[in-house]
Amino acid sequence: MSLFQIPPPTRFDLRFSVAGIPVRVHPLFWVIALIFGAGSNNLPGILFWVVGIFISVLIHELGHALAMRRYGQDSQIILHFAGGLTVPESVSFGLGYARVAITPNQNILISLAGPFAGFFFAAFIVVLSLAMGGTVAPNTILGFIPFPIVFLPANFGALNSFFMVLLWVNIFWGLINLVPVIPLDGGQVTRNILIQRDPWNGLRISLWVSVVAGALMALVGFLFLGSIYMAFLFALLAFQSYQALQGSAGGL
Ligand SMILES: [Zn+2]
Repeated sequence: MSLFQIPPPTRFDLRFSVAGIPVRVHPLFWVIALIFGAGSNNLPGILFWVVGIFISVLIHELGHALAMRRYGQDSQIILHFAGGLTVPESVSFGLGYARVAITPNQNILISLAGPFAGFFFAAFIVVLSLAMGGTVAPNTILGFIPFPIVFLPANFGALNSFFMVLLWVNIFWGLINLVPVIPLDGGQVTRNILIQRDPWNGLRISLWVSVVAGALMALVGFLFLGSIYMAFLFALLAFQSYQALQGSAGGL
């Protein structure tokens, strides 16, 4: 069973819609968000993380969903234990239902719309902080990824911590998703580019890129970021791509 299959509905699902796009939140989403939040040993800190992760993953998926809508494709959003999914829906077509035909280049833009929705939201938080009289200090993650730190005036209190959570999750989640590992957004982009360049071998090459990048990210997550969750997720995705390669072994 694939990690990114749609989790079946449960009676604990939270359902609502944003801009006409239905959203379903699986209960395991909250469990994972709580585990991430548990590192900050106080209740407001945990709450900031849970709400921050919820808002950020939702914005990411809304980026995909709104880009799909632009190309005439309806969708629904599902938040689950490994993040989020935007699932294309069949649209009424004549007497029945059909999927809209999306070109490879439109698929690339739909994939990029998720991470960039998060980056734009992070930029909005920086601008908002400045407008509230705060200051911004440039910083980096792992020494090379730009990452802003905002300082709000003291009277905004804990809001400063919440802004930092939003910045952290939006930037980090966007970057993680841009890694060229299938089925992440970056993997969709490399697959769509490589298949267009080389219809015969493109898929296999993109799967090999996925195996190598996934294994590297598992190592980076474990050794440099100390994240067992990230190591586990990327190791699993690398293995899935490897299995897909075995399945298509006759093609080359
Ligand atoms: Zn995405």
